[in-house]
Amino acid sequence: MSSETHSTPGNNPAQRTALTVDDYVRGVLAGNRTILARAITLLESSSPLHEPVAQEVLRRILPESGKAKRIGITGVPGVGKSTFIESFGSMLAGAGHKLAVLTIDPSSSRSGGSILGDKTRMQKLSREPNAFIRPSPAGHNLGGVARRTREAMLLCEAAGFDIVLVETVGVGQSETALRSMVDFFLLLQLPGAGDELQAMKKGIVEMADLILVNKADGDNRSRAELARAEQEIMVHYLDSATPEWKTQIALSSGLTGDGIPEAWEIIEKFYRDLKPKEVIARRRQQQSLDWLTDLIADELQRRFYQNSAVAEQLATVKGALLRGELTAMQGAKKLLSAFSGEK
Ligand code: GDP
Repeated sequence: MSSETHSTPGNNPAQRTALTVDDYVRGVLAGNRTILARAITLLESSSPLHEPVAQEVLRRILPESGKAKRIGITGVPGVGKSTFIESFGSMLAGAGHKLAVLTIDPSSSRSGGSILGDKTRMQKLSREPNAFIRPSPAGHNLGGVARRTREAMLLCEAAGFDIVLVETVGVGQSETALRSMVDFFLLLQLPGAGDELQAMKKGIVEMADLILVNKADGDNRSRAELARAEQEIMVHYLDSATPEWKTQIALSSGLTGDGIPEAWEIIEKFYRDLKPKEVIARRRQQQSLDWLTDLIADELQRRFYQNSAVAEQLATVKGALLRGELTAMQGAKKLLSAFSGEK
């Protein structure tokens, strides 16, 4: 890498020259946004040439990561996430916080169209000098998207952002991926839309440290009060996401800003109460270990299906399984032997 040219990145990507690991590390640690953005692009690259450089940059900035409050936010499409983040983020940036907004967008990998990456979202916040908004990486499966978001979060921390908000749309497995990378999990719900039951069915309520009944304004206000009371009863019967913390329920309106400072107070209280007890540090350690396990599983699976001996026998084994000539376990063992035989 050291033979690569040093350069000052220009705005025109065509004029960009390669940066060295040192350039990336220095730029990120100095809080240079252009270099931060390029480092994230490097992490998102699927080129095998980029991966060792990206991972080395990441390793070098690791000691400077970990300093932000890591907050996850989710809710079904239309619940008001972007409006909420605009309002919440502007308040924090206005108070002098440096805020990065990242996303885990499960749609971008499948359809190519993104639910969350839409450029028109959060326009006000994107003009805020204390805020950095980065849409979800595209072209990967959910595991890949989540991994890259997590790595981008570490870079943002090293670049001096003291709050990282990670957003995901509440349509599937992405909430679990989100929960596995943040300290605090915020769920936005709509009053009286059956939303509560859906979220409960999917186990999302049990991931939440704070549930905000959103759009609690105008005619919705009394319905929201009612929904809040119902939620209070519901969470009483569930395990809380963080054993040392009672799941909070409150009202908010991204539109009017009502409840937004209070939501931040709840988050600050979470850190104030739990940080001295090492709850957050322990959660992060467990998350790191879980990531290691997941990455090994993903990588093993990738190698397995790319293995030529496996590829050769896969169709035969599937056929034998369907004809009842092999059990699934026998088929799996046969393929695994083929896999390890080639090693
Ligand atoms: P997202 O899909 O979850 O990001 O939702 P958006 O923030 O894009 O909001 C979806 C729609 O709900 C838009 O038409 C918003 O204007 C509206 N909306 C968002 N927040 C509020 C709110 O607090 N109160 C009301 N009444 N409407 C809202």
